[in-house]
Amino acid sequence: MAELNGFEYDVVVVGSGAGGGMAAYTLTKEGLRVLMLEAGRDYDPIEETPMFQTNAEAPLRGTSNKDKNFGYYDATVDGGWQVPGEPYTMAEGTKFMLWRARMLGGRTNHWGRLVPRFGPYDFKPKTRDGYGEDWPIDYDEIEPWYDKTDHLIGVCGDNPGVDNIPDVTEGVMQPAPEPRVMEILLKKACESLDIPVVKMRRAVMTEDKGDGRSPCFWATNCGRGCSIGAAFQTTTSLIPFAKATGRLKVVTDAMVKWVHTGEAGQANAVTYVDRQTGKDVKLKAPRVVLAPSATETARILLNSKSKKYPNGLANSSGQVGRNLMDSTGAGVSGHVPAMQGRPRYNEDGHTGNHYYVPWWGYQDQAKGKLNFPRGYHFEFGGRFSEPNIWTGGGVDGYGKKAKQAVRDKYGSSIGFSLRGEMVPNENCYCEIDSEVKDKWGIPVLKFHWKWAESEIKQVEHGLKWGEKIIKAMGGVVTSPKRTGEEAILAGGQIIHEVGTTRMGDDPKTSVTNKHGQTWDVDNLFVMDGGVFVSSPHQNCTITIMALAMKNATWMSKQIKRGVL
Ligand SMILES: Cc1cc2nc3c(=O)[nH]c(=O)nc-3n(C[C@H](O)[C@H](O)[C@H](O)COP(=O)(O)OP(=O)(O)OC[C@H]3O[C@@H](n4cnc5c(N)ncnc54)[C@H](O)[C@@H]3O)c2cc1C
Ligand code: SF4
Repeated sequence: MAELNGFEYDVVVVGSGAGGGMAAYTLTKEGLRVLMLEAGRDYDPIEETPMFQTNAEAPLRGTSNKDKNFGYYDATVDGGWQVPGEPYTMAEGTKFMLWRARMLGGRTNHWGRLVPRFGPYDFKPKTRDGYGEDWPIDYDEIEPWYDKTDHLIGVCGDNPGVDNIPDVTEGVMQPAPEPRVMEILLKKACESLDIPVVKMRRAVMTEDKGDGRSPCFWATNCGRGCSIGAAFQTTTSLIPFAKATGRLKVVTDAMVKWVHTGEAGQANAVTYVDRQTGKDVKLKAPRVVLAPSATETARILLNSKSKKYPNGLANSSGQVGRNLMDSTGAGVSGHVPAMQGRPRYNEDGHTGNHYYVPWWGYQDQAKGKLNFPRGYHFEFGGRFSEPNIWTGGGVDGYGKKAKQAVRDKYGSSIGFSLRGEMVPNENCYCEIDSEVKDKWGIPVLKFHWKWAESEIKQVEHGLKWGEKIIKAMGGVVTSPKRTGEEAILAGGQIIHEVGTTRMGDDPKTSVTNKHGQTWDVDNLFVMDGGVFVSSPHQNCTITIMALAMKNATWMSKQIKRGVL
């Protein structure tokens, strides 16, 4: 055991977001003592969440600005597309965006809480279509951990019986909210096109679980954070739950730069920059779990060079930083006259869509009917929501007539967000930029990115179907005509970066084994999205957490057996 200010610990966990929060929770519940190092500042969700402020009280009606990229009241208190003094660079021709949240709980304080599981097809993609690699686990192996994770964090949803959406064991999920009127119309339109619309699984509690959190009251903006704990974030659940064991100590403002190894090659210490003092602090680390997010894990490993590990730590395969993936993203929008001039009523619910369009093309793909591998889903927005600076956009004029037109139009726009799978390719990776350091003196990441032709074709398919759905709703498409190449968003923009330290069965082609344990350093684990082998279209975070729970449980067993 190591010790810090009288606190003895077995494991150092780096990061307090989805992966780190779950790792710390699981290890402490297993009886181990954990020191968590978090680069961001401390954050109190009870005191700091602006749940009840209205946009009307905020500058420019709460719209985004340079510091608050997702709106004035966004829960991210210290971060965004740029973090002052902590740049990243891009190779020529690369467009890549990296969202960071330098705060306790990381990006979970804001995330959308969409939690679709990967299905059986997703763990064996190469077997299905020959591209990429298969995972070293299959759906059956992870299923119990999905169940435990869904139950623990609180997920609402149902079992729609749709291809590659696995049924969740009875009793695990909470009831999902009813559809809004736009969603009812969407479902009808999609049925006429023979495509499914199903309830969205969301990490929002709709029933009391008796764990100190309260169920959703359907009225505030989840993106601002949820002080009552209904919308999952580690700051209202996993971190306080782990602290309650008495076996977790959290150090905030601790930006880890290196993991050190001893002569035998095992991890034995970490160095972090104390962001309050700017000084380096070196701490003993009997075992290390890295979960500062996929790209930051690659950065720490690549920066942790030594005589024994000249290419960076855990990088004998040369795969650290490679296989970087995000989801594909594109948008289609429209105006639905049938929704115009509706009487006002409460249409709040939780912030996101209650229903969505899952990928419906698996069988056509298997028959070779589509010109791209892998699928996408549509999330969408269209309802009465809190007016903001964009309410009334597209209405001309002034006076009573303009006001009436704004009122009539309110709630009649629809927007589809495509989220699709990309296949890892050799042009998408990150490495250390040897010429640029951040304000802490740590070399930064340089990103390389190029979408493959298959992703462009996938987006073209999505644009076409998004437009078809809007028309089937009796609507008019308002987004401009674009090619797939024009419409596809930048790499990283969907904030699902994964794959930089992928798991596998072969140490030559992967960084960790199927337990997230690095092949080269057996007391060093990765428990964020770095370990992903592919990036299915389903949003990644529930799988990050299920894997972290599974792998932290395995790790604790090894420790208790005395082999780690
Ligand atoms: C607006 C938004 C919407 C999203 N919506 C969804 C969604 O609906 N569904 C979904 O599945 N996913 C969604 N995501 C993505 C989701 O938030 C991430 O996949 C998830 O949080 C990743 O977990 P993580 O633990 O790897 O990283 P994070 O949650 O970002 O946590 C990493 C933590 O590590 C800390 N850290 C970083 N570097 C260091 C260092 N060197 N030393 C110490 N600590 C460090 C960070 O400060 C941070 O607190 C969304 C993200 C955003 C921003
Ligand atoms: S709508 Fe529900 S889940 Fe979202 S912030 Fe409000 S109470 Fe929390």
